[in-house]
Amino acid sequence: MAYSLPDFRAMKMISPICDHCGDLFFGNAHRVTSEEDGVILLDMVVCDSCGIQARRLGLKTEEFDCSRSVALN
Ligand SMILES: [Zn+2]
Repeated sequence: MAYSLPDFRAMKMISPICDHCGDLFFGNAHRVTSEEDGVILLDMVVCDSCGIQARRLGLKTEEFDCSRSVALN
């Protein structure tokens, strides 16, 4: 097959659905985490707008690369 099927499957595996609003998203994802004394209280992958909201609330956010997450798994 000439088409990049593996890429499509990888995207489905990580299910690009915002953990906060439930919207499907493509493109920028943000990982929102909250940690206290080494204990992870929150670990979500959210869409762009929810990521911005989380940052406004003072939560720790980082750019989340979907393709890189598949490699880590
Ligand atoms: Zn969202």
